[in-house]
Amino acid sequence: MEHTSDTVYDGKLLHEISYPGRAQKHTEITLSATYNKIELYGKIDFYDAFHKVIHETKRGNKVEAAHHWQVKFYLWLLQLNGIEDAYAILEYPLLRQTEKVELQPEDVLHLEKSVVEISKLKEQENCPSVINAKICKSCSYYELCYISEE
Ligand code: SF4
Repeated sequence: MEHTSDTVYDGKLLHEISYPGRAQKHTEITLSATYNKIELYGKIDFYDAFHKVIHETKRGNKVEAAHHWQVKFYLWLLQLNGIEDAYAILEYPLLRQTEKVELQPEDVLHLEKSVVEISKLKEQENCPSVINAKICKSCSYYELCYISEE
């Protein structure tokens, strides 16, 4: 649902405003790979191919575990495509903070397990129930989950 998400668009815009000129130097890349017959896909907005660094800008004023897992997933996709030793920089312009994220072997195990679980969810006939959590408001799937026919 990324393509319809205002949140995703805002994040990209914030990145371009906070780091002017970077868009020309860094490439947007789309990655795919297969793990255990599961097709994986990811789009990295700003990738520095020369230094093997992913730049991911977050618009909020809070560092969240989900941010780490997002870039770790990208790093795993790079690894599955034969690109080793890449790392990510999470950037929080509102906090004036950056964080380096590296992919550890135990992260790969967690990601492998997670995509298998997600794949099983996809096979189910019915969607899981909504979780009614605060995070739902900023989730790309919000409309899909919460808008129902009257
Ligand atoms: S909106 Fe997002 S976080 Fe909330 S239930 Fe739907 S998929 Fe899960």
